[in-house]
Amino acid sequence: MLRSNLKIKLPIHETFQNTVQGEGFWTGALADFIRLAGCPVRCPWCDTGYANGGKSLPSEARAISELLAELQSPRAVITGGEPFIHSDLPELVGALLDAGKQVSIETSGACWQDVSPACWITLSPKEHVNPKYPVQEIFWQRANEIKLVISTGEEVDFYSKYLQDRSHIPVFLQPEWSVKERAVPIILELLKQHPSYRLSLQTHKFIGVQ
Ligand code: SF4
Repeated sequence: MLRSNLKIKLPIHETFQNTVQGEGFWTGALADFIRLAGCPVRCPWCDTGYANGGKSLPSEARAISELLAELQSPRAVITGGEPFIHSDLPELVGALLDAGKQVSIETSGACWQDVSPACWITLSPKEHVNPKYPVQEIFWQRANEIKLVISTGEEVDFYSKYLQDRSHIPVFLQPEWSVKERAVPIILELLKQHPSYRLSLQTHKFIGVQ
């Protein structure tokens, strides 16, 4: 059976197409987004509606073929919620790669599934927000980029022992949107101490796209 004909159990909250990746390494690249429901981490400032675990957000199980038919861009970004809480995530990634898509996953690193090494992983750790959900060790090796959401600036110190040996992958400092006026100057100071790090802005919010 073709992988694309599989019924998957992934709860899809929403998809949106023909937009751009607004953050991190692939900023400005055309992308479609697949937003999966559910996240246990419960960051108080979550901007995707998962601060309460996302239980009240609508979602439905979808066939991979249906999902593929909706996609229009070269890159599919799987986000959430927390994509790695779903055991069918590797099947979804495999089907997208089989269909010729570039695949990115955005994660807090709280759970791991054995996804293809061909997919790009953006690790945005939230262990400092909720220590009940520490980053799984494998992500510090496997991540293709690290994105720290900066609110106070203490986030860099919190993860410093993991960041020390990660000079081969990009590290982005991104202001938490609700306090960006305070966070941007903090980031500019942090960049002086860590000149290999880069500023990431949520450019999609500045240009008013999803
Ligand atoms: S880990 Fe991400 S999706 Fe989950 S609550 Fe925090 S910001 Fe929201």
